[in-house]
Order: sequence, then structure tokens, then C-alpha cells
Amino acid sequence: MLPHLRAVFNYMPQRIGKNHPFWKGNKASYIPKHAWVYRWYGKANKCEAYLIGLTCKNISKKYHWANISKKYLRIKKDWIMLCVSCHKIYDLPKGWTSWNRILEELILKKDIK
Ligand SMILES: [Zn+2]
Repeated sequence: MLPHLRAVFNYMPQRIGKNHPFWKGNKASYIPKHAWVYRWYGKANKCEAYLIGLTCKNISKKYHWANISKKYLRIKKDWIMLCVSCHKIYDLPKGWTSWNRILEELILKKDIK
């Protein structure tokens, strides 16, 4: 893990609380699970919000992979591409915004080659 990411991870537990579902007792679980889909299917490049009943407003030109089951299964069916705007609507627990965004940025730009 890159040093700047480690700093974020070291800081987050106090910040968001150890009982947040994000952690599930394993600090490092988030990135490897998402890294799988990037590695096999590349960067997300379109919005498939219609697959989950959302209508994309085409606000954002940035795209993320989003997990459907929240079990991060290693099968393509469990992942869809969403633009940042739809991803926020779909994926974020209440009160959970800035850290998720920071992490997504780090994952997309720095750690996934
Ligand atoms: Zn969208």
C-alpha cells in the first residue's frame, strides 16, 4: 500500500468509528475487493444506472465500479459501472461522503495500474 493511502487508513477508524460497516473488522478489505474488478474489467467508462432502476442525468463524466450485492463477489454480474453522480445516490450510507470520495480518488488514480 502506498504511504498516502496508509495515512488515510490509519486515520479513518477514529474518524468514522470502528463499527462502521465499511470496516467489518478488516481495515484493508475495501481496496482489494474493488481492485479485483478494475484488474479484470478495466476502468469503468460508462454509466449503467438503468440496471439498478436509476435514471442517469449525465452530470458526471467520471465513472466508478459499484458493487451490487455488497458482498464484493468475484463475478462480473455483481458489479456495474456508475457515474460518480449515480454512484453517490446508490452506494453511500447516510453521512458518508467525503471519505468515500477521497478513497475512490486514491483508488482510481494512484493504486490501480
Ligand atoms: Zn449515472
